[in-house]
Amino acid sequence: MAASFDSGYPPPLTSEQSDYLLSNIRDWSILNGLAVRPSSSFVSEKIDPSRSLALTAPVTLFPSLFPRVCFDEARAIQTAYNELYASIANDEEWLGEVVKELAEVDDFISNLWDVHQAVKKEGYVQDLSLGIFRSDYMVHKHPSNLDAKPEIKQVEFNTIASSFGGLSTKVSALHKHLLSISAYPPPTLPFISDSSLPPNPSISSISRGIAIAHKAYNRSRENTRLPLCTLFIVQDPENNAFDQHALATNLLTDHNILTFRLPFSTVLSHTHIPSDSPFRPLIYTPPHSPNTLYEVTTLYFRAGYSPAEYTSQDSWKARLHLERSAAIKCPSILTHLAGSKKIQQILATPSSPHLSSFLSSTSSAEYIGRIRDTFAAIYPLDDTPEGQYAISIATDADKARGYVLKPQREGGGNNIYGLKIPPFIKSLGNDSKKYRGHILMELIEPPALRNSIFRNGDVKSGEVIGELGVYGVCLWRHGRGQKEEGVILENWEAGHLLRTKGRESEEGGVAAGFGAVDSVCLI
Ligand code: ADP
Ligand code: MG
Ligand code: MG
Repeated sequence: MAASFDSGYPPPLTSEQSDYLLSNIRDWSILNGLAVRPSSSFVSEKIDPSRSLALTAPVTLFPSLFPRVCFDEARAIQTAYNELYASIANDEEWLGEVVKELAEVDDFISNLWDVHQAVKKEGYVQDLSLGIFRSDYMVHKHPSNLDAKPEIKQVEFNTIASSFGGLSTKVSALHKHLLSISAYPPPTLPFISDSSLPPNPSISSISRGIAIAHKAYNRSRENTRLPLCTLFIVQDPENNAFDQHALATNLLTDHNILTFRLPFSTVLSHTHIPSDSPFRPLIYTPPHSPNTLYEVTTLYFRAGYSPAEYTSQDSWKARLHLERSAAIKCPSILTHLAGSKKIQQILATPSSPHLSSFLSSTSSAEYIGRIRDTFAAIYPLDDTPEGQYAISIATDADKARGYVLKPQREGGGNNIYGLKIPPFIKSLGNDSKKYRGHILMELIEPPALRNSIFRNGDVKSGEVIGELGVYGVCLWRHGRGQKEEGVILENWEAGHLLRTKGRESEEGGVAAGFGAVDSVCLI
């Protein structure tokens, strides 16, 4: 299709067209669970003390134009990316070297590593590990060569709580629905058609990952004869609960698997490991039915990734308790740590041999170059020549403009952008060791598109930029010890996500209050 990014898409709407579109977005979203709970800054606790209200998730009115070559490539390399991160999580020795440096300056990383060490000392009882990953990209176009094909550049790789797989299938379906009920005016049609709106099976595909872990759980070793369940470890309050419910509902309807939600802060009061059991099954006691015990097959963490959630020593006790249990973790502590931004920086260093060594199997070797092509420039802030170069950028207001500084954190809102980098570095004081907890990344500048975002009942139109996430599911057996290699048992690409934000916004988090969920209109 001869469409380009500066085309007249999407078309302007008359007020009647806009009313029709919005009323359908509102109603379809609630009907189908494309919903969020309002943040307390939007609806105060006084107005909704029982937290009964839900509203349409922030969405774009139109699917955003996205280059098909980029979409296809991001999907094509996902299984190799899954293998890469499973291999890193399996290489405890190498990961430990990286973590050791970070742990000196980052208590959170240090505490996570200590949890792993404590379980290792006692001996792990579960060798299976589940990854539900999401690799995030922005489109990059060479500013000097307008004829060059657009490429994808990776923003980050998530190994814990990769969210929006539940809402993503639904926003794709919403935009298809709007097309089918003629809510998009005719000039839109050359762009949007059934073939430009690809299917997005993120819900069924991610749920299937949890289901295969559930089935692989080796209950025969203990055979408690208890009913089995999976447990979603969640935050409380959780505004994005409907995203998670979509997965839990699918587990029940398609796989007959029961899921419970357990706030991270209540793990120790509602789960236990029988002290006389060497297999260490994790037993869940639901608060609503304290006489019924369940054996937990799979722990799906949608919490526990932010230091703010670890409010006391009990929080760390809870994480250790879960890690040492026989339940399959999604993710294990090692997998969680493999998703550190520092690891991404090491892989992206051009002279680094690690990418090739982690992707040495014949099936994935052909992807090494393609994965390398997705890396933007990322630098350490240390004593190496690259590190010294990065520090010279990060301390110079003019040069820092094109960069983002990232600590080892997840969940949005933690990065420092452009002009704010030099004063931040200064605030760390003279101890350059403290710099090492951060990486410096070149800003990717995707072409601006036009779209409208419907958020908290308001429509904002203007220039936007998108971030494509591709989900990956991987189940593997951890290799423990030098002679025992890890083995990948299942590995697939699991659907996608497009998030779109106003061009002027630095962060893109939908839950963090910046962006919207979107779907791709391939061109
Ligand atoms: P988090 O783990 O907190 O989501 P990210 O690395 O994804 O951290 O950064 C948060 C957001 O910041 C991204 O969604 C994106 O909008 C923006 N961002 C991060 N890195 C870059 C980059 N190199 N270029 C442009 N934007 C970026
Ligand atoms: Mg992110
Ligand atoms: Mg992240």
